[in-house]
Amino acid sequence: MKDLYDAVIIGSGLGGLVCANILAKENLRVCILEKNQQFGGNLQTFSRDKTIFDTGVHYIGGLDKDQNLYKYFKYLEIIDELNLRKLYEDGFDIISFDNDEKEYKHAQGYKNFSNTLLQNFPNEKKAINKYCEILKKCCDMFPLYNVEEGEPPYFKNPKILTTRAKDLIDSLTKNKKLQAVLSGTSFLYAGDADRTPFYVHALSVNSFIESSYRVVNGGSQISKLLVRKLKSKGGDAFKRHEVNEFKFKDGKVNSVICSNGKEIKGNLFISNADPKLTLNLLNTNLLRKSYVNRIKNIESIIGCFSLYIVLKPNTFEYQNRNYYHIKDYNDIWNIQDYSDKTWPKGYVMSMGVNNKTSKWGETLTVMTYMKYADVKEWENTFNYAINRNDRGSSYEKFKKIKTEKLLNEIEKKIPNIRNCIKKVYTSTPLSYRDYIGSNKGGIYGYVKDVNKPLRSFISPKTKIKNLFFTGQCLNMHGVLGVTVGGVLTCSEILGQKYLLNKIRN
Ligand SMILES: Cc1cc2nc3c(=O)[nH]c(=O)nc-3n(C[C@H](O)[C@H](O)[C@H](O)COP(=O)(O)OP(=O)(O)OC[C@H]3O[C@@H](n4cnc5c(N)ncnc54)[C@H](O)[C@@H]3O)c2cc1C
Repeated sequence: MKDLYDAVIIGSGLGGLVCANILAKENLRVCILEKNQQFGGNLQTFSRDKTIFDTGVHYIGGLDKDQNLYKYFKYLEIIDELNLRKLYEDGFDIISFDNDEKEYKHAQGYKNFSNTLLQNFPNEKKAINKYCEILKKCCDMFPLYNVEEGEPPYFKNPKILTTRAKDLIDSLTKNKKLQAVLSGTSFLYAGDADRTPFYVHALSVNSFIESSYRVVNGGSQISKLLVRKLKSKGGDAFKRHEVNEFKFKDGKVNSVICSNGKEIKGNLFISNADPKLTLNLLNTNLLRKSYVNRIKNIESIIGCFSLYIVLKPNTFEYQNRNYYHIKDYNDIWNIQDYSDKTWPKGYVMSMGVNNKTSKWGETLTVMTYMKYADVKEWENTFNYAINRNDRGSSYEKFKKIKTEKLLNEIEKKIPNIRNCIKKVYTSTPLSYRDYIGSNKGGIYGYVKDVNKPLRSFISPKTKIKNLFFTGQCLNMHGVLGVTVGGVLTCSEILGQKYLLNKIRN
């Protein structure tokens, strides 16, 4: 560990790793401090019964040659080493509903996407074409999303922030089934009827329509490559270094203190931890109370309950696609709004892939929403990667009941699913709260609300000159969104024109 770093980064989630690599490429002495025993945050993988599961990455968009994420990963020098498997071009996502035998496919490539939908909705050509057009038009307005410099579009056109996704999609057609199919992957951004802006839908869905890939052996491949690249440029990365205090000098951050007692000094600091948690550690009057209160009052996105299923050998064919099942197609935007009786209103099913995967799958992950309130009873129990604890038998019982309920739903779609299961592991919002440090175990950062668009807006800059934020709680979540966010944070340090020139060249 050096006596002084040019940049100290708190947290090794994707945002932290992207910033660290950008700054190390500029010859800054960079150090990443990670509380866990594995780098990557939501890119982490974990192993059960000799199989690998992802914490938070099931597929990635925009990775075909010369697409947006391809360009960013090329600049970060990881694209050529990434081991990816392209999902089925003619149906990477399948949308299905209760009481409907049909499976509605989302295909890759806009022409393929609309032609595939037309097979199920032959009279809806106009609506489908219009949908594709507005999706692309919306994405074209975001310069960094297109690896271009420029101001965010809402500076000139605030309507972008206030256009509701549900309203815009529903306005395209009266066909309720088509509306539901177009909105069917809303789990990608935790879509909600009253609040989700259309741009959040567009930026998420567009990248997957452009191209969709799974990361072989899981998302940790990305974090491992980024840590290796960082170290090759002289950067340092330390696991088991939880930052729990910031120290100030002359109105700036001077150092951070880790729970192991180490003090790390730096010239600038970037927090990749949830901003709410970062503010709890700052303990300073250098930030305005109104600013601190605003961030503390932003609502975090809902959490999830996941089943990590280890499959019996040679029982379940590997599906090179994801399944989004929603019980009631009229209720597609209200899946988060469940009661004990109606849970789960839908789920997403995805499979892991490794180098050997051909006919049979080894793992199946099923996710559905879960509110923090559902696990509040155990919120005073903690189970960290480096300090394992039991939350007690009532929690285990709760998880067992939820597992059975979710399996009963899956059974309706895959009647023999229980015969294929070797073992089931589970996670709840408390797992994400403790392992990732996300506020209330929220999956994708903070709620973006068309009714209060600026309330959840957080700039990467703070009033403390040498303290910056990055990560999914800022602009957009997801591998693409957080990578773009990392570039935005570093643009504040290096200058956007300068950085974008480097990335494009
Ligand atoms: C269930 C789920 C499924 C998902 N599926 C996909 C998908 O299929 N495709 C996709 O593109 N995206 C997906 N995402 C979203 C994507 O994984 C995230 O948006 C992204 O990885 C978040 O990156 P981040 O930079 O915000 O960091 P995070 O992943 O939030 O990591 C933050 C890091 O900071 C560390 N940290 C926190 N506090 C401290 C501290 N005090 N000191 C030191 N370290 C600290 C944490 O341990 C963690 O490593 C999914 C997310 C979830 C939860």
